[in-house]
Amino acid sequence: MTTLSDLNSSSDIGFVDLLHGIYEHSPWIAQRAAAARPFESITALKRALQHVLAQASPAEQLGLIRAHPELAGKAAIAGQLTAESTREQAKSGLNLCNPEEFSTLQRLNQDYNAKFGFPFILAVKGPTGAGLTRQDIITTFARRLKNRRADELAESLRQIKRIAELRLNDLLDVRLAFGPAIMQHAETLASWSDSAYNLTCAYMTLAHRQTADQLAEWMREAGMQVHIDAVGNVVGRYLSDEPGAKTLMTGSHYDTVRNGGKYDGRLGILLPIAVVRHLQQRGEKLPFHFEVVAFAEEEGVRFKSTFLGSTAVTGKFDLSLLEQRDAEGVSMRDALAAAGHDATAIAAIARDPADLLGYVEVHIEQGPVLLERDSPLGIVTAIAGSSRYLLKLGGLASHAGTTPMGMRRDAASAAAEIILLVEQRCSQGEALVGTVGQLHVPNGSVNVIAGACQLSLDIRAASDTVRQAAVDDILEGVAALCARRQIDVDIELLLSASAAPCAPWLMAQLGEAVESVGLEPYRLLSGAGHDAMAMAAITDVAMLFTRCGNGGISHNPLETMTADDADIAAHALLAFLRQFQPRTT
Ligand SMILES: [Zn+2]
Repeated sequence: MTTLSDLNSSSDIGFVDLLHGIYEHSPWIAQRAAAARPFESITALKRALQHVLAQASPAEQLGLIRAHPELAGKAAIAGQLTAESTREQAKSGLNLCNPEEFSTLQRLNQDYNAKFGFPFILAVKGPTGAGLTRQDIITTFARRLKNRRADELAESLRQIKRIAELRLNDLLDVRLAFGPAIMQHAETLASWSDSAYNLTCAYMTLAHRQTADQLAEWMREAGMQVHIDAVGNVVGRYLSDEPGAKTLMTGSHYDTVRNGGKYDGRLGILLPIAVVRHLQQRGEKLPFHFEVVAFAEEEGVRFKSTFLGSTAVTGKFDLSLLEQRDAEGVSMRDALAAAGHDATAIAAIARDPADLLGYVEVHIEQGPVLLERDSPLGIVTAIAGSSRYLLKLGGLASHAGTTPMGMRRDAASAAAEIILLVEQRCSQGEALVGTVGQLHVPNGSVNVIAGACQLSLDIRAASDTVRQAAVDDILEGVAALCARRQIDVDIELLLSASAAPCAPWLMAQLGEAVESVGLEPYRLLSGAGHDAMAMAAITDVAMLFTRCGNGGISHNPLETMTADDADIAAHALLAFLRQFQPRTT
């Protein structure tokens, strides 16, 4: 077995030789990284090799990509692969393809090479290292074939880094302490779903309650004191021995959107449970109570109202929501009663801010920023505030053939102009985005000018001033263009949520923890809302983001991350807990 100290103490030639299988037929990567020795950790070694690759010329990068074999390609059939590639392809059963799979792969290889001029590269051992299925590989292959060349080049390099990471783990016999269990638990939770075809876990359904029970069991096994509160939050407390200890809180949500991903929300519950289990196994206590809250609801799928779990904890739960009905006409009050919850106890869930030291949430990024920076972890600076509106436009429905263009009051054309206005205005602000995600022509016909049109408007920004200025400009523009087009407009405000800045003192301590695991404390904004946003009403908050694979896609079954990233995030959280100092002022 090779060790880090072997790598640090060998000659330059010896170093390159030990790492010869890590980057396919490309010893220059290890040659250039050799000078950066000694490496303090395997993470530092990994980052140094990745840095060489990032600094290499485009021709060198393309050369590395082209040094890889096709999947189940000619070289594989002829037995000409490197030992590493042979093992990896076999792990996914690529050597066992049936004739149909084999011919599909050959066709994909051919089309891919013809389009991009290099072979398709995929870390076939996958997010956990256990190996993707042949069907996963074929589906990914077909999907990536549609990409643009520049995006595929970047993705190929990322896959190569992932392959290298897995090969280094093998070479150095790395046993991840947390990552595999976290990934396995996310997989187990994903098996409970409201749908037979995808992952959907809506508030207070059977799948939702099974998920809660499973989380409670894992929390208990990890040594926590556990209860499920009246709104369905699963609360686990790892108690301190210190008299008068206060509580540091973490958590995230366990509900999902329809057809969602396995890690959104759940990572922020499973990861701290894994860390607490580790502390408990070592008999290690913290000088504060550490509380993991699995929030019952954040996404708003069933009752069209979000943050039900965290607003109950902050005492901001709107009790009138209990009368809200789902698509089947079941009220929230009845859904809670059917699940054995006492809705009258919800008000009592509210926590005393004086008992709280802060709230820190781990969450998958749900965007491409960390992925494109090659950073496994990031520290959130603020959660963007958002404004949501429903716009109802009224024009005049009239004959598509007989109404001259200059005499129309076309609600759909007005909507189109609004969409472009939103796009144009929101391209101009710092950390500002604007989206029209719903567009509807009620009772529209192919041969009738749209007499009505409804559209949604979602505007988010890190700064409330920037957001409000954009909202003002857009609404003013809407009024002007509707007046010009003789369109009636009705504007309904659906939501206005202030930005939640993360607490600098918590960000600084998270930053030190991230540095202590060998990574730079990169900071980024969260465009998505999170439970931390609600928690900010009663305590200081911070968030740790983990890299989101597959181009940063989330709220989608393609959402993915690696066991290695989960592992390093858990080590960062552990370091954060061990070094945690309460706010002094
Ligand atoms: Zn989430």
